[in-house]
Amino acid sequence: MKILAQLNTADEAILLIDSSNSVSKNLINKLALTLNSDPHQVILINPSIEKDDIVKNLSLLDPSLLSKLIILNRTFHLEDLLTLGRSKVKNVIDRVFILSMSEDLTIQIHQSCIENRIPINTFNSAKYSTFTLLSTYNNQNLQIGITTNLQGCKMSSRLKREVIKSIPPNINDIIENVSSLRKLINSNENLDKKEKLKWLSQIIDYYPLHELGKISIDKLNDDLNEIDFKNSHENNDPLKSRGKISLIGSGPGSIANLTIGALNAIHEADLILADKLVPQEILDLIPKNVEIFIARKFPGNADNAQEELLKIGLESVQKGLNVVRLKQGDPYIFGRGGEEYLFFQKHGYKVDVLCGLSSAFVACVNAGIPTTHRGVADQVMICTGVGRHGKIPENLPIFEEKRTVIFLMSIKRIVDILPILIGEKKWPANLPVAIVERASCGDERVIRTKLANLVDVCNKIESRPPGLIVTGWACDVFTKLDEEEEFRVIETGLSVEENVDLEKIVTLLK
Ligand code: SAH
Repeated sequence: MKILAQLNTADEAILLIDSSNSVSKNLINKLALTLNSDPHQVILINPSIEKDDIVKNLSLLDPSLLSKLIILNRTFHLEDLLTLGRSKVKNVIDRVFILSMSEDLTIQIHQSCIENRIPINTFNSAKYSTFTLLSTYNNQNLQIGITTNLQGCKMSSRLKREVIKSIPPNINDIIENVSSLRKLINSNENLDKKEKLKWLSQIIDYYPLHELGKISIDKLNDDLNEIDFKNSHENNDPLKSRGKISLIGSGPGSIANLTIGALNAIHEADLILADKLVPQEILDLIPKNVEIFIARKFPGNADNAQEELLKIGLESVQKGLNVVRLKQGDPYIFGRGGEEYLFFQKHGYKVDVLCGLSSAFVACVNAGIPTTHRGVADQVMICTGVGRHGKIPENLPIFEEKRTVIFLMSIKRIVDILPILIGEKKWPANLPVAIVERASCGDERVIRTKLANLVDVCNKIESRPPGLIVTGWACDVFTKLDEEEEFRVIETGLSVEENVDLEKIVTLLK
């Protein structure tokens, strides 16, 4: 179900069907809502309630609104839906949108819609519209709709973003938790229902919103005063039953390339499951009391190590721990991040994902290669040098003059890939390329050469993993090899911004 529109039809007739024999709070609430929404008529069908009964409960209602209320003291019949407040019509259009039309015709269509009680929305015209579309937000248990009444949809979408920002990220858990608590109270014969429901409504009103996802039935207490609302956020709820799993990108190495979000996640974690590639510098930031497990991904064991990691992750999250799966670079760039997401999703957990700076981009920047450059490169591609089961990828790209291609996991495989690129895929032998190793680490190194020399160069130098290969004319924009130069090795590590003063950053953030 989606919120589509807020209806504001002239002559609107609203029907309330009620069979109870006394005036309930629910009825008064509904009357207040419907009468306040400015309808032409509100018709209440109820066999026993009279207008006087409602007048007695007027504290919530503006008495002047009662003139619009008609009460029919009888039972409801299905035909009432068609005959009350609306003539019996068939095959009518239910909603009309005018996108563009002459003013004369717009007036006629609008008039006709009004006569036939068909909701109409005329683009950019409040005057000829009876309803507006809402800028909507849909997040499982929560729907929000905002309209500025046809005074600019951009504005309502901006307002929507502002409202969403103020909603706690765990809103779905909150709604679910509160709703299951209510169900639990209603179905448990041993509880004093009235008392407990009162407790619940107090909690909903006064407790900090983000804490509502954690309240458990065990905390239901006859004495409401025992709940310390003010300090509730400091109560480490021992009954926290569901843990949390986040997939966090660590960036390629340097703290300078770590996001503030990742730093925060590292500090909030109970357990960190890190990739083998996550550099020591980042691991050093993990507080002493946080448990770390590093994936045992050595050659031939990648699948087992992955399974082991996911198993530990799932068991820990089921125990209620805050598990951070720390992945090198960006979690979705050749990091199996998507598979991990699906794994936890299958087990009923929503994974929070935080992107990281991918080595692919950081390497280019640090090596002085503008990945796109006007007139030189207007496309960027990230590929792998290893296909499934260690095979050569089947879809190596055809050469594109204005494309920068970054090959990850390719240094050891270049001997197999290069002949295909130069032969079948028509890559020019003199295309400038750069090998970037340990990008953003203190021992970062860049080797510049031409495509045809790649295998030779890789044989001549002792590699410093991890490394990647950047190809394309963008490599030549800032630095060019001399005519006769076969390759050039540049130690760039020293220029990497390593002097990040964490204490200063913490002060800045305060
Ligand atoms: N998710 C990572 C990539 C994982 S695949 C990211 O977004 O960066 C692993 C490959 O990434 C390595 O084989 C290597 O090609 C590349 N890589 C990772 N870290 C690197 C670094 N610091 N410098 C150069 N290449 C790196």
